[in-house]
Amino acid sequence: MSDSKDLSRRRLLTYGASGTLATALGFEAAPSQAAPSQAAPSQAAPSQAAPAQVPRRVLGKTGQSIPILLVGGGAGFKGGVDPRITLALRHGANYIDTARKYAGGASERNAGAALAKLKARDATWITSKTPQWSAAGLKQDVAFSLAALQTNRIDLYFLHGLDQMGPLDDKELIKAAEQLKREKKIRFFGFSCHGGNVVELLNAAAQRSFVDAVMFRYNFRDYGDKELNRAIDAAHKAGVGLIAMKTQGSESGFRDAWTKFEQTGKWNKHQAVLKAVWADQRITAAVSHMETTTQLRENLAAALDGKPLGLRDTEAVERYARLTRAYACQGCEHLCNPHVTAPVRIGTTLRCLMYHDSYGDGEKARRVFRELPSEARQFAGVDFDGASRACPHGIDIAAQMQRAAELFA
Ligand code: SF4
Repeated sequence: MSDSKDLSRRRLLTYGASGTLATALGFEAAPSQAAPSQAAPSQAAPSQAAPAQVPRRVLGKTGQSIPILLVGGGAGFKGGVDPRITLALRHGANYIDTARKYAGGASERNAGAALAKLKARDATWITSKTPQWSAAGLKQDVAFSLAALQTNRIDLYFLHGLDQMGPLDDKELIKAAEQLKREKKIRFFGFSCHGGNVVELLNAAAQRSFVDAVMFRYNFRDYGDKELNRAIDAAHKAGVGLIAMKTQGSESGFRDAWTKFEQTGKWNKHQAVLKAVWADQRITAAVSHMETTTQLRENLAAALDGKPLGLRDTEAVERYARLTRAYACQGCEHLCNPHVTAPVRIGTTLRCLMYHDSYGDGEKARRVFRELPSEARQFAGVDFDGASRACPHGIDIAAQMQRAAELFA
């Protein structure tokens, strides 16, 4: 079955499964479909109707209901009370995703300060992550996170950007996670991943009862990936809560195709691809790094709509996925890197292009690129032909690496 047919079939099954579109999507009904309000809670007149609430779904075995749109803190939050947090909470998007290393720690600090000021900690789900994949590192970072977030418990704690299996079999690490749960410092535990071994990691999560949730790269280009879909099925069946990230995918060109889509469709690109992910009932929620209140309002509108993309828009997204597949790196650099003699990091470098092209976040793109070892940033004279041949997506790696060198040098 072609990718396109896979996606259409999934949509049709979804749409046809029950009487209403909202319930077909597994959404709890939103009270109203009004546009996101601009007013802060304290400014709302008492007579105003309650603001529309983002639909919610249950996060796997945690049994907890969370909004389908999660507020990503990758770029940090403003000091004081970031208006994006106020607006999100007002519309029921009461889940803030942060990490120890986001914005050099300011993401956790500012989110914690805002929730304390708004007295909204108890009404908000907080997730954080550690780049330390050891028992001692986990305990240490949970302590740091609790202090930075000004709280005594974190709802979900992830190993950040896991790209290997070892930590999932580390008995001391598992014991530490269980102990942190017993001490009520964290409620649930899992990992995030966006590298090339997402399939392997999801399958592993399905077989490990201590993994409550996984946040993984998943977007509109992935529907035809049978291996990935089997792994998602296995994790979902095992009760692992599934959160999608990197939902915008990498476009690296083809802006014209999106512009055309946006001129004819009801939704803009960011909204359309979020709705494409929400149509998959195995996925509880999508995390979105919304840089501005405008982006947040757009995404809230898409979530509050409570309906899937129409078939015409779905087909347009599928068309776009097909057109751009050869430009969209999926991060599986274990497939291409071995075919290059230089110590470059193809997947990570192309991920920087995604931050630049799809998220419009040149600063993050340059920062992540600069964090690579200096030898991984030297491409001059490197032969990428073998790597391109090994890439299952047919990406012209030399051209993309050249573009990265020009953009981030
Ligand atoms: S270039 Fe291809 S093989 Fe390499 S990480 Fe990207 S998608 Fe995977």
